[in-house]
Amino acid sequence: MSDAYLLMTPGPVPIPEQVLNEFARPMIHHRTPEFEGLLKVSLENVKKVFQTEEHVYFHTSTGSGGMESAIVNTLSPGDKVLVVITGKFGERFSEIAKAFGLNVTLINITWGESVKAEQVQAAMNADQDIKAVFCQACETSTGVLNPIEEIAKLTRLSPHTLLIVDAISALGVVDLPMDKWGIDVMIAGSQKSFMLPAGLSMIAFSKKAWDFVEMSKLPKYYFDVKREKKANLAGQTFFSSPVSHIRGLAKALDLILKNGLANNINKFIALSRGLRVAGETLGLKSFAKVPSPSVTTFLTPAGIDSEKLRDHLESKYNLTVMGGQEKLKGKVIRVGTLGDVGREEVRETLLRIAKGLTDLGFKADGPAAVKKFDEVCS
Ligand SMILES: *Cc1c(COP(=O)(O)O)cnc(C)c1O
Repeated sequence: MSDAYLLMTPGPVPIPEQVLNEFARPMIHHRTPEFEGLLKVSLENVKKVFQTEEHVYFHTSTGSGGMESAIVNTLSPGDKVLVVITGKFGERFSEIAKAFGLNVTLINITWGESVKAEQVQAAMNADQDIKAVFCQACETSTGVLNPIEEIAKLTRLSPHTLLIVDAISALGVVDLPMDKWGIDVMIAGSQKSFMLPAGLSMIAFSKKAWDFVEMSKLPKYYFDVKREKKANLAGQTFFSSPVSHIRGLAKALDLILKNGLANNINKFIALSRGLRVAGETLGLKSFAKVPSPSVTTFLTPAGIDSEKLRDHLESKYNLTVMGGQEKLKGKVIRVGTLGDVGREEVRETLLRIAKGLTDLGFKADGPAAVKKFDEVCS
């Protein structure tokens, strides 16, 4: 593996060969029994990853399209909503909500920290008319996990308030039992733990959320799930189907479910814990107060510009990690542990980061970090 390209970002992720092969097959039309069968199986199997009995909808869009779908399908102009901002993707939720004329209240959390359920409770108490609470399960820009189960306990008590969860960088790596916890709308994206290229978003609605769908008055066309539902019942999608993505998804779901969702989750918990501890050995401090198993955010040592490190790792060591966004630019690198990534990839990542740090004048001991990783992971 010593010079093979390593993609260690929180989306896109490495794609297993069996899934990649699906994208190389000759095209078929989407209005065929072959495709209809594939769609049916995928729609059924994806529910197991969402841990829901409800229908899951596919949109041919990136994850952000799924975020827009959550909003336009459930809400009406002027509705009051509460948006938790723990980083850049929380900001995106608030921007979409504002673009559609919603009345937005924010809970702004210091980057690196997660929201507390009490803060959501206080905001809901202060305004009884809040129709939806928006929150990231994992805020990918900082690497924190938010307490979705605790927040769901609050929204479950209110028949007129939905919990809308952006689980794009969490689902498949973090346990998020949608039905059991009472999450009302959950959104996923193909290029994260589903091990596909970007281009497919997935979204499910609880029964409570579907009542909102029936009453929603925001303008919608492309993301209209009522029309999508009719099409799905007839074995089709409302627009042309992304045939290759659905083929890839069917294969990826086979792999995930064959391994077992719980085993998958445990694997990434162990890998990320090992990565964090081994990172400390290299002089990299973990930034997130409650770190997500899908992405680890490391503060780079004083005097090391993380953008320089990132670029150097890419050009000299054939390793892509992410830098920081906005206020974290230059200060952190973010390493993804999701998709087709295992111990060998994490070990190799540690070795290359150590070399990169050393090249930039901060002496780091790669083999010592790998030893630490193996201790923690075994
Ligand atoms: C990746 C990601 C998104 C979606 O981004 P797209 O580029 O639109 O796919 C949204 N939210 C979170 C938390 C993400 O990690």
